[in-house]
Amino acid sequence: MPVSLTVSALRASLAARSLSPREAVLAVAAAAASKDSTLGGYVSLTEAEINTALALADKADVTLPLGGVPIAVKDAIAVQGAPLTCASKILRGFVSPYDATVITRLRAAGAIPLGRTNMDEFAMGSSTENSGFFPARNPRDPERTPGGSSGGSATVVDADTAFAALGSDTGGSIRQPASFTGIVGLKPSYGRVSRYGLVAFASSLEGIGPMTKSVRDAALLLQTMAGHDPLDSTSLNAPVPDYLDTLDRGVKGLKIGLPREYFIDGITPGVRAAIEATVQQLAAAGAEIVDISLPHTEFAVATYYIIATAEASSNLARFDGVRYGHRAAQPADLTDLYNRTRAEGFGPEVKRRIILGTYVLSSGYYDAFYVKAQKVRKLIRRDFTEAFSKVDLIASPVTPATAWKLGTFADTPLQSYLADIFTIAANLAGICGISVPCGLSDGLPVGFQLMGPSLAEKNLLQAAQTVESALSPLALR
Ligand code: GLN
Repeated sequence: MPVSLTVSALRASLAARSLSPREAVLAVAAAAASKDSTLGGYVSLTEAEINTALALADKADVTLPLGGVPIAVKDAIAVQGAPLTCASKILRGFVSPYDATVITRLRAAGAIPLGRTNMDEFAMGSSTENSGFFPARNPRDPERTPGGSSGGSATVVDADTAFAALGSDTGGSIRQPASFTGIVGLKPSYGRVSRYGLVAFASSLEGIGPMTKSVRDAALLLQTMAGHDPLDSTSLNAPVPDYLDTLDRGVKGLKIGLPREYFIDGITPGVRAAIEATVQQLAAAGAEIVDISLPHTEFAVATYYIIATAEASSNLARFDGVRYGHRAAQPADLTDLYNRTRAEGFGPEVKRRIILGTYVLSSGYYDAFYVKAQKVRKLIRRDFTEAFSKVDLIASPVTPATAWKLGTFADTPLQSYLADIFTIAANLAGICGISVPCGLSDGLPVGFQLMGPSLAEKNLLQAAQTVESALSPLALR
């Protein structure tokens, strides 16, 4: 069975009993065994995990919405009995004792979690090169990054070693890798999907979302995962609409804004051409294209890297050698245990961020950095509120350029932070966003970003579906 099937196609075959859940699991295992050793998309897909999945497959109820569908899971999301390491040496060997709420919901819908996908350590990065184990590679060109931090999830979906995957997005980590690999990546509105069981990096910014081969699959997975969760105090208590019934309705009458601050000189000509052609297609499909402004965009990267590191420095304090994973050998005393465990367990980017975050929260600098960043965050949020009083959705590139060669930013992390410019504001504002493939530039995928107000996933998916159907599959492969 080809793992190139969409989840929608797979579930139709499973429901019709022309394929079995066992065959689906074995197909993923075989595809991963033949392709993933060079691509590094999975950090874990062991014999034991495959056997657990086969046992679930044999009991799967194929009449359920995702009955018998295997789904790969980013290594930051808890799956009971499976390894949970955030691609960090500090968590090597840690096995999750419980399921994240998204996993509970996916299981209830019949899905089978299978395989842990590679990522930047603790989701800090944009290329999966900060993985504590090995980098993931872009299936379109293995010399290049698949993006990050959910790079492994993007790799396995694009390489057809998974039917679909889950990622998490704190500042672009679902949308940017989706863009770099030519798949669909949806970042739901903050609070739309429970964060319970997502290892925390920057709690006020992040969420879990689907990474899929089609917009329909993203809608299908969101349908299952969305909704209030008493275990996550920031989860929104709002009804979950039917994301699928309007998916093919098109964009007639929708107002789509183009923020002038997102069409800057730094965008490569190939990316610009693909984005502009897509905007034309949306206009031809009946959308009204409106020029808008998000005036505080230039402060988004700096604001994000203050707030995200501040939250990370606090969230990562729990990895101290006492409760989780790695523990330094023969510590002289408690301080030595903490110091050496963290020195040995965390990689350089994680250390950099803990130090930065501790600095911006420290006495004397708190007002100058952290409090100021919170104020700017409010201004960025207000930019979006004002924009969404004029338009239904906002369109932009996901990234200024296509996937870079591995090693490009090894010595200049700040340069890679700057490449997050178009994705970060959505997290600061808590709104929803999606990357949908819109063409190629020099053979590499370009993602089209749509952003919508909080809880506007229905419109967002509908417009993304229009983009997807306007494009011939040949333009993508
Ligand atoms: N690239 C951003 C960072 O390094 C975003 C990561 C993410 O969304 N997890 O923080």
